[in-house]
Amino acid sequence: MSIVHTHTFARAGAWLGQLLDELVPPGLVPEGAADWQADTDKDYCPRCGASAGEGSVTPRGCAFCLNLKFPWQRITRLGFYGEPLDEWVKHLKFHRRWRYGQWLGQQLAEGISEPSDPDNLIVCPVPMHRLRRWRRGYNQADLIARAVSEAHGWRFAPILKRTRHTPPQTAIPPSRRHDNVRHSFDIEPVDLKGHDVILIDDVKTTGATLCACTRLLMQANARSVHAAVAAVADPKGQGFSAI
Ligand SMILES: [Zn+2]
Repeated sequence: MSIVHTHTFARAGAWLGQLLDELVPPGLVPEGAADWQADTDKDYCPRCGASAGEGSVTPRGCAFCLNLKFPWQRITRLGFYGEPLDEWVKHLKFHRRWRYGQWLGQQLAEGISEPSDPDNLIVCPVPMHRLRRWRRGYNQADLIARAVSEAHGWRFAPILKRTRHTPPQTAIPPSRRHDNVRHSFDIEPVDLKGHDVILIDDVKTTGATLCACTRLLMQANARSVHAAVAAVADPKGQGFSAI
């Protein structure tokens, strides 16, 4: 079969899938969610998001991040990138379970405490390049961010853009991921003076993407950036280089 025909069938399949999604929306709640609980603040390091036992995190961070500097103020996560969260995220990204994004966002919203100045707070997703978005049909970070925004009544503001169509971070060794996303993002011409930002993504691995996005938000005068993700791949875990 020629490449052209393969693409034509793939596109027709995607279109049929979208039609089916509209006729029979996929389930909102992932399988196994009834027996699952999100992490609390005590389960992980609020600087880097890595799993950490009670008492192993100091004000300067955990064993993974003591000598590292981060542009964000803190990280909130639902859990580490392992069962069952990894399966739910994969279904969300690759198997058209777009409504899982809504559910994950609702769970994440519960873990983000009420800010001191909610009127000057925006919720911003990590952007996806328009070509990838066109192929997938949605940006999963966008779905999660919208749900966080709706749950609290906070302003949704997708002000970041992805300007380069780079290989997925999953296809790049962890050591090269900062280079892969460097100069890949841009921000709308906004002045965020006096505003706090909640930056949303589905998964944090090396943190390269969150770093690049946070720096742009801070350059636009954001007062603070709080990163919030569904899952964090632990630095010692197998998922770190596999996702
Ligand atoms: Zn840490």
